[in-house]
Amino acid sequence: MSHKVTLIPGDGTGPEICETALKVIEATGAKIDWEIENAGADIASEKGTPLPSSVLESIRRNKVALKGPLTTPIGMGFRSVNVAIRKELDLFACFRPCITYQGIRSKFEDINLVVIRENTEDLYAGIEFAKDSPESQEIIRLAESCGTGQLSQNKIAPHSAISIKSISEEASLRIVKFAFEYALTNSRRKVTAVSKANIMKTTDGLFLEASRKIAAEYSGKVEYEEKLIDNICMQLVQKPNNYDVLVLPNLYGDIASDLCAGLVGGLGMAPGANFGEDIAVFEAVHGSAPKYKGLNKVNPCALILSAKYMLEYLGETTAAFRLEKAVRSVVSERKKVTYDLGGYSGTKEMGEAIIDKLQAKSSGVKTIRSAPLKN
Ligand code: NAD
Repeated sequence: MSHKVTLIPGDGTGPEICETALKVIEATGAKIDWEIENAGADIASEKGTPLPSSVLESIRRNKVALKGPLTTPIGMGFRSVNVAIRKELDLFACFRPCITYQGIRSKFEDINLVVIRENTEDLYAGIEFAKDSPESQEIIRLAESCGTGQLSQNKIAPHSAISIKSISEEASLRIVKFAFEYALTNSRRKVTAVSKANIMKTTDGLFLEASRKIAAEYSGKVEYEEKLIDNICMQLVQKPNNYDVLVLPNLYGDIASDLCAGLVGGLGMAPGANFGEDIAVFEAVHGSAPKYKGLNKVNPCALILSAKYMLEYLGETTAAFRLEKAVRSVVSERKKVTYDLGGYSGTKEMGEAIIDKLQAKSSGVKTIRSAPLKN
């Protein structure tokens, strides 16, 4: 059976890694009918928007997408298209597994943890007001008027730019439930809820309260613990094997997932996915790495491994298993790997090496991996 899937090649190095990933997916034997949709800066001048409605319509129709990275202008220009896609499609759960593969130079062996990040709210939603705007001045006045009698007054420096951190009970319950369900259905031992609730008692406090509520429902089935974000950053670089499934609000999740990627060989080896109720968009953790655009240099594995999770989601478990096995084999041999893994091969050559493994006779599979990822 053929699966119809939306493909967003992205920009920067996105199109190169997508091209390679598509060839690798084809070599698994899985039948995918790609519907190509462009988004981002390159399309903005032509269509008047970096996110044409046809992109969202295609994903809504097909329910599954593979996406290359998209550049977001820093400090100016349009808002993040990546964030817009997640918000528009209510892709509330960001799933980022961090696994050490043999052959990767890392201080740690056998890391196998998953970062689950809330995707729709928090500071990362980018609700901001410019300095001296009527909105920021009103917020400054409001904060000051509400601060009387508190331990420290709610004084905001005049002329401040302001960003809104909003955390809702509904979104917190939903993401923590997702984390526990993932842990349960994938034989994971423990969920760690991460916050800064000692300082942000109201917003992160609400996240933590929701975490405790959901944890109680899984008592006796999945272990639960709580950590502060600053503390867990240190713990992760010292004792990553102590962790299994981490669940975090949006911004902490964004930062912690790059940190975890660093533990397992860097962004070139870090896959990801964004899940909604019935839509999934698979994409690497990394961005468009624009300085390497067109150089055939970056590691395609993060997107290829994202495609592995996509294949599992589509029920193509044998193809997914073979794909991961081929990646493992190329990475462990260290002969045809990209610069970030200490090699001299380009994007295409590493992709071809993975395809060679998939096409080798011995890669026939006897065992099929456990159940596909459920959300
Ligand atoms: P980045 O992830 O693009 O790259 C940072 C560095 O990591 C690169 O310079 C490179 O050294 C390394 N790197 C990244 N991907 C690699 C790969 N596949 N193989 C080998 N090395 C790799 O982060 P950035 O430079 O902060 O962001 C560039 C742009 O991407 C920005 O506009 C940012 O907003 C955007 N971005 C998009 C996404 C997304 O599409 N989901 C995610 C993160 C960043």
